[in-house]
Amino acid sequence: MSENVATDYGRMWAELGMNLPAHCALMNAIPTMYENAYLTQSDRPAGMAYFDFVMSEIHGLRIKELVDHKTAGGKVVGTFCLYVPEEIIRAHGAVGVGLCAGAEWGYNEVEKVLPRNTCALIKSFMGFKMDRVCPYVESADLLVGETTCDGKKKAYELLGEMADVYVMELPQMKRDRDREFWRAEVREFVMRLEELTGKTMTAESLTAAIAEVNGKRRALQRIAAARAADPAPISGKDALLATQVAFYDDVPRFTAMVNTIADELDARVAAGEGAAAKGAKRVVLTGSPMAIPNWKTHDIIEKAGGVVVGEEMCTGSRYYDTLVPETPGASLDEMIDEVADKYLGINCACFTPNDARCSDVVQMASDLGADGIVHYSLQFCGPYQIEAVQVERAARDVGVPFLKIDTDYSAEDVGQLSTRIEAFLEML
Ligand code: SF4
Ligand code: SF4
Repeated sequence: MSENVATDYGRMWAELGMNLPAHCALMNAIPTMYENAYLTQSDRPAGMAYFDFVMSEIHGLRIKELVDHKTAGGKVVGTFCLYVPEEIIRAHGAVGVGLCAGAEWGYNEVEKVLPRNTCALIKSFMGFKMDRVCPYVESADLLVGETTCDGKKKAYELLGEMADVYVMELPQMKRDRDREFWRAEVREFVMRLEELTGKTMTAESLTAAIAEVNGKRRALQRIAAARAADPAPISGKDALLATQVAFYDDVPRFTAMVNTIADELDARVAAGEGAAAKGAKRVVLTGSPMAIPNWKTHDIIEKAGGVVVGEEMCTGSRYYDTLVPETPGASLDEMIDEVADKYLGINCACFTPNDARCSDVVQMASDLGADGIVHYSLQFCGPYQIEAVQVERAARDVGVPFLKIDTDYSAEDVGQLSTRIEAFLEML
């Protein structure tokens, strides 16, 4: 992608206030990473061509769509966490985009304000904003944070000095009084969005938004279900990419494309065709989220001859495995409660206790016929690094081999991780 301001995209990025030389450097790096991780794969589903196109236009066409939406009077809302309900954003006619960042960027500046031992995800989204290299961040009219881990909470205060940030207070437990609190918090969020968009959410607009987002999650569930087959009809890397893109693509288009891929996967399963060899060692990954372009762990596992068949993470099953009920005749108030309850059901390590996550992981390993579980934490992510102890215990209790890795976004530990993962796959 050229950074020349004479091109349409160059003009658009300049008008968004982006740092064009820094953006150019970022955009020079991502295609090479994508080619190495994705275009070297054989036996990919033909439908993945859509995602190749999406990635080639990641800061182009989709940003143009967001800018057009804004020009027509719409709003763009950026989020960092699964707990921010996208149905509520859509029901206000706004477009939601996920802003979790998966690349090491701008760390020199970031480490002037954040401790070095902050997780890569937080450093990355702060680096993207401080260096003005992310057009999704720059096109957002409002950034919505949440009180999940302490690092994020404090980083949002600093982010708020550079952009309009609204923080939702998420409880840390799931008792009845926490549920009531969270339902009230979602209602406050509705008020903030009404203020932002000048629109009032109605039962009709929320019903439509719930149906659209449920459709997207159902399409992703179809891909997830197909991965139970041996041989796996799609690589873990490709399935991960579909979930990563779900956070910012146009919802109806994304749903249609993913359903087309799911049809293709069903046909592949019926024909016994795979993206990996039959009998390849099957791995379930669990842990911290993996935002674009963080494909490192999948890449290592799959280049070592294994195949990732499921992700119990926010860029995986936690995103799509539950739906908001579509209850005919429900009032707006009842629907808001149902949205809030669906989100509180997500099992993030920021909650205590979080035993349901352990059950989710072992259930997923069983459903998908996994040979082993790999627990992936970002370094300095206390919630996931510590909760790995309980997940390991749950895996051992059901006799599933377990490997724990702590890593970051750099390529420095690829050699060492490869050695450990190869040894793990050998042992399975
Ligand atoms: S891991 Fe927890 S804090 Fe991070 S995106 Fe997921 S739900 Fe949010
Ligand atoms: S990866 Fe861990 S430390 Fe980083 S933002 Fe998520 S929960 Fe917080």
